[in-house]
Order: sequence, then structure tokens, then C-alpha cells
Amino acid sequence: MKFANYHRAESIEDAYEILQKDKTNTIVGGGLWLKLSRREIDTAVDLCDLGLDTIEEDEDVIRIGAMTTLSRIEESDALRNVASGIFPRAVSFIMGVQLRNVATIGGSVMGRYGFSDCITPLLALDARLDFHERGTVPLVDFLHEKGKVTDILKAVIIEKSAAKGFFKKVQKTAHDFPILNVAIVKKEKGTRIAIGSRPSVASLAKEAMEYLEKAPTPDEVIIAETARLAKETLKYSSNHRASAEYRAHLAEVYTRRGLMEVNGLED
Ligand SMILES: Cc1cc2nc3c(=O)[nH]c(=O)nc-3n(C[C@H](O)[C@H](O)[C@H](O)COP(=O)(O)OP(=O)(O)OC[C@H]3O[C@@H](n4cnc5c(N)ncnc54)[C@H](O)[C@@H]3O)c2cc1C
Repeated sequence: MKFANYHRAESIEDAYEILQKDKTNTIVGGGLWLKLSRREIDTAVDLCDLGLDTIEEDEDVIRIGAMTTLSRIEESDALRNVASGIFPRAVSFIMGVQLRNVATIGGSVMGRYGFSDCITPLLALDARLDFHERGTVPLVDFLHEKGKVTDILKAVIIEKSAAKGFFKKVQKTAHDFPILNVAIVKKEKGTRIAIGSRPSVASLAKEAMEYLEKAPTPDEVIIAETARLAKETLKYSSNHRASAEYRAHLAEVYTRRGLMEVNGLED
């Protein structure tokens, strides 16, 4: 990435105004992914002075500021208490500490990266995104949108309701990108299954979730069928990391294991 000007925003309104002035103007989170791109931009807009780097909680929700680093998420007691702590756990598998000290949750979500180990658990947790202009948007809807985003993410919001969670990242080496990742969150009102790095961006396994919803106390047979549906109804593709067939197989195996775990069943 090359930029002609650097602007340290004084307020979110100031950042938004600069962002709208030129279509190349870009918000910088940790700057790690942007740095790898060949984009030439007029003004890089930095949000570092806007107090968006905190994790706050009230009775119902946890609000993670967009500039919060992955390390702070990993260390957050509040997040460790939600759904068996799958979100901080998932984050802890991303590269090394040095990278996690710089990479932000804002950059991790806004990039809509297929390989993301953040988006998959956040989707299972039914996270919402709080934007400056648009207000609150469910993550699941944001992931379906196409094209350049011209809004600014202020925070990621997660509900605190009681839940059990499961997360699995399949990777070749400790510091590698995922071949596939699976996140499952079981709440009183239902179970959400998200599968990412297929290698496209994470999706909910909707047919599998609908099938599971019909069984209030799932047993091994129902779980096996749910996992089969997760394999059959989502699209898996091949790339240099793994074949479509291998990914689909992994999805079935880890959906089944995850559902056994969140339902308190022995595998
Ligand atoms: C070598 C390497 C290995 C990695 N391995 C993994 C891995 O295994 N798993 C994984 O999940 N991730 C991995 N990542 C990605 C990393 O975790 C971050 O998600 C990534 O670097 C983006 O975060 P950032 O803060 O650097 O964002 P930036 O690079 O600053 O920004 C990324 C995008 O988000 C936009 N943006 C940032 N903040 C906002 C905001 N508040 N509002 C609107 N738009 C915004 C930017 O304009 C840009 O388009 C890896 C990254 C690198 C460099």
C-alpha cells in the first residue's frame, strides 16, 4: 500500500468526512493487511485517538471497540465467559503475539476475509456491527453485502446470554492460515453452526441448523445427520491449501464433534 497523506482523525465525524472526500481514502486499523496490498490511496485515516480500543460490558452485551487488538480480545475475562470462551480462543490461534498485538477486530471483520478465524466464531455468536452512519447491522447480513464499504465500524457487539461453544481451526502448522474452521454456539433458543475458510468467507449451515431445531434433545443419530447436512448443503472449494473434498470431510467431522461437545455427549 502507498498513501500520499496520513490523517489522524479527531472525531468519528472527522474521519467519516475525510473518507467520503476521495474514493481511495481508507480507514487504517492495525494496517497489517493493508500493508500487503498494492493499493495506492490518497489519505490513510487513522482512528487511534478515538477511544475505540476498549471492551465494555453491561448486563446484556459486550461491546468491542473496532480498534481493539486481537491480543486484548484474547485476554478479556468478559469474552472468556461467553459461550465457553470460543472467541478469545479462536483469536489465540492467529499467527504470533506480535501480529495479535497490532491487528484490530475492525480490520479483521471489515476485510470479510475467507480465511478469517474471527468471523466464524462471531457469526456463531450472532454478533452485530455498530457503524457510524448505518447504525447496527447483523454480521450475517454484512457478510452478504458486496462492494467497497464507505462507512466506519465503531464496535462489534456480542450478547452475553448463557451458551456453550465450540471452535476448531484446522491448520497445517501453528502459524498457518486455516484450511477450515468451525464454530458452534448452543443457546437456550437454538444452536448456530458457522463454517469458514471453505475457502470462502464463513456461512451459517442453515439447513443443518433447521434440522437440528426440530430435535429439542439431540442424540448421536440426529447429530450425525446434522453434520452430514452441514457437509452436503454448504459449498466447499479447492485451493493450494486443501481440496474441496477434504474441506467437506473436515466440516462433517468437526460439526459432529462440536455438537456432541455442546450437548454434553461423550464422543
Ligand atoms: C501474515 C499474516 C497472517 C495472518 N493469519 C491469519 C490467520 O491465520 N487467521 C486470521 O483470522 N487472520 C489472519 N491474519 C489477518 C489478521 O488477523 C487481521 O485480520 C488483518 O491483519 C486485518 O487487521 P488489521 O487491523 O491489520 O486491518 P487493516 O489492514 O488496517 O485493515 C483491513 C481492512 O479493514 C478496513 N478497516 C479497518 N478498520 C476499519 C473500521 N473501523 N471501519 C471500516 N473499515 C475498517 C481497512 O480499510 C481495510 O480495508 C493474518 C494477517 C497477516 C498479515
